[in-house]
Amino acid sequence: MKNPTKKRIFPKEEYCLGCHLCEIYCISAHSKEKNLVKLFKMPNRPYPRILVEEKEGEYITFALQCRHCDEPYCITACISGALQMDQNKHLIICDEEKCVGCWSCILVCPYGAIRRNDNKKIASKCDLCIERGIPACVENCPNEALELREV
Ligand code: SF4
Ligand code: SF4
Repeated sequence: MKNPTKKRIFPKEEYCLGCHLCEIYCISAHSKEKNLVKLFKMPNRPYPRILVEEKEGEYITFALQCRHCDEPYCITACISGALQMDQNKHLIICDEEKCVGCWSCILVCPYGAIRRNDNKKIASKCDLCIERGIPACVENCPNEALELREV
């Protein structure tokens, strides 16, 4: 039966301008600093949890995009219990306090959706901006190339 609270981000690559604003607003959303200029000067700022890749105007892909799998390999592999499923929202989230930076989750994720945050030596992944109503990347994409949909 369809669960009304289960949502995922769907990229529409044909609309992507390659502006990378989604990455910038992702960093801002996961930082206490909301001034974008100050954010860029900040040491140890968060890494973006969405990554737009492009090749000389030939193609654009969203390589770093967590699918919040129903049977997540990352949770199985996590040795510290840092990766957990939020049962209410069907999201895979990383408790940064518990992460020990072993990178097991990075090795097993089939989508390359977890990134090393070398500033903090912890895993960094999309949490669908769980504390916001709508993910920052979706909200701020100027060409509506990212869509939050119920699945
Ligand atoms: S903000 Fe939108 S248009 Fe810009 S890179 Fe991201 S997805 Fe593409
Ligand atoms: S990090 Fe990878 S394995 Fe874990 S839920 Fe996301 S896509 Fe699935």
